[in-house]
Parts: sequence; C-alpha cells; structure tokens
Amino acid sequence: MTHRSEVMEQYVDSDYQIQSIENAFLHLEDEKVIDALRVQSTLRASLSSSLRSREFIEIPPVIISPLTDPLNHPVSDPRIKCYGQDLWLTKSMIFHKQIAVQSLKKIFIMSPNIRLETPEKSQSGRHLYEFTQADVEALEWDRERSMNLAEEIIIEAVSNVKKEDGNVLSSLGREIPDWEKGFRRVTFGDAEKEYGKDFEKGISEDSRDPVWIVDIPLHAREFYDREWDDKPGVLKDMDLLWPEGYHEALSGGEREHDLKRILTRISQKGQDPASFSWFIAAARKGLRGSSGFGIGVERFTRFLCGLDNVSKASAFPKIPGRVSL
Ligand code: AMP
Ligand code: MG
Repeated sequence: MTHRSEVMEQYVDSDYQIQSIENAFLHLEDEKVIDALRVQSTLRASLSSSLRSREFIEIPPVIISPLTDPLNHPVSDPRIKCYGQDLWLTKSMIFHKQIAVQSLKKIFIMSPNIRLETPEKSQSGRHLYEFTQADVEALEWDRERSMNLAEEIIIEAVSNVKKEDGNVLSSLGREIPDWEKGFRRVTFGDAEKEYGKDFEKGISEDSRDPVWIVDIPLHAREFYDREWDDKPGVLKDMDLLWPEGYHEALSGGEREHDLKRILTRISQKGQDPASFSWFIAAARKGLRGSSGFGIGVERFTRFLCGLDNVSKASAFPKIPGRVSL
C-alpha cells in the first residue's frame, strides 16, 4: 500500500472543525437521528437473520492488520507501528473474507471500516470516515448468485423495516414501494454513454427502483476483482444504486484468486507487491474463487429513512474534516 503520510499532513493543515460534547448531545437528541437508529437496529437484525437463515456464519470484524484494501480512490492511510510492523486500520475486509471463506464457505461480517476521506467529501451527504459494511462472501459462488442473494436480503430488510418500524417511517413521511426481484441492469459502458461520467447520480435520481451497474472496467476498480475470460479489461463486478438520488448501495463481484493473475494485476496498477505479501502468500498456498459484496449500513439507513445526510444514520458520526466524539 502506498504510504500517504503527506496526504494526512494536508488534512491537518486544511480547514477542519472540532465538535464539542454539546454537539454530540444535540445530535443524539435529534428526533430524526433517534428514528434512524431505531430503523438501523431493525435493518441490522434483518440482514443478520436473512444471512444466518441461508447458513452464512457471522465472523467478528478485523480492526487492525498488516493487510487491508488498497481502494481505488485516495484516502489517507493511518498506520500504527506495532511489534516492528506496519499495521493498518481496516478499510475493508476484502482479503480477510477471501481467506476465511476457504474453510468457512459462507460468511458475513458487520465490519467497521475506517477511510479517512478528503474533507470536501463532507459535502456529499453520503461519506463518513467511520462506517459499517454488511460484508458478505461465499466460496465458489459466481456473480449471479451474489446478485440474487443481495436482492433477496435487501427486499427482506425493506419488508421487515416496514413491518416493525412502519410508524417511524410514517412520522418521517417516508414511503418505500414493494420491489420485485430482478432489478434492472445497466452496463458501466452504457451508463456512461447515456449519462456521462456522473452516471451514478443521473441513474439514481431517475429511478424509482434499485439499479445494477455491471461489467465495470479494470481501471475503475482494484486488482483483486476478477476479469471476464472473454471480455479482457472488463470485471465481473457490480454496484447497486439506490433509487431517488441516494447513490451507491453496495459494491461486489467475483474475486481473482490465481497467483499469476494477481501478480500481473498488481503490477498493472503500479502497486508494490510487498504491501500485499500476506495475500500473495495465501494465493501461493492456493485460493479457490469466491464472490460477494458489501452493503453500506448507514447509507441503507439513509435511504430507508429518506435522510438528507448519512451523518443522521450514525450515533457518533465521523464527518470528513470534523473531529467528533
Ligand atoms: P466499497 O466496496 O468501497 O464500494 O464500499 C462498500 C459500501 O460501503 C459502498 O457501496 C457504500 O454503501 C458504503 N461506503 C463506502 N464508503 C463509504 C463512506 N465513506 N461512508 C459511508 N458509507 C460508505
Ligand atoms: Mg463501491
């Protein structure tokens, strides 16, 4: 992983705010926050129960490790020097999922991620620098099975929230339609042709149901995503977009597990293989293929409650550029 201590310094020099304990109390007294946290509690229970009923095992999150997701966009990487090693705070458990699934076969993690997003992301309404993914992986599943599972657990979650928290949704003035399985699919290429670079915004705003973006090009994703054999340069990846302008719900795909291809892809990205030595060692030992996805829990809550900002979906929101409890 690139060491980005220079970027961290920039964050320190740039405009940042320190929130007071009064801000923390005011936030926790906000009726919308209380409603959103009630809905999120139901959402978390529903996701867990949907996955457990399909024989997925919940494993505990990893918070600190010599290996984490390189990500495809710049965030500052906090490093802890520990026992003579560099350890990183988890940006995602992608590699741990791929390794754990070899023996556990079907897993999920309610995984806290730390991504020190650049301060201007505070304007997006959907970025926190600490958030949770419902992170799912299954051994020898293809993308199709993952997409099918994602649709099922999302539809079940919406239905459970409507059942258990119908009064909360009404007080928020929120109505969510009953979706059918088989969400619309658009390829990344077609989406870009029709809406331009910012297609995520355009498609999400124009839709009343969730929409899949499939077949994401290599440059837009990380080295661990699997390429189609018959479509070089195109990945067996997918994103799901929430409707009504709420942007991305989840990202996922099939994973690359072949050592030679992993090494080629790392070098194509211009990354240092030493940063991924633990994953390379796992691939050298032998990995079987897997597929999965990660759903942003706070963004799901934001969508369910129709919130203007994802910060209302967190008890102690970490808004980029702000230091808070
Ligand atoms: P990714 O694999 O990077 O797409 O992350 C998985 C999911 O986590 C995304 O689809 C979002 O729903 C959510 N997510 C990613 N970054 C953030 C962030 N900075 N704040 C809140 N949620 C996020
Ligand atoms: Mg994504």
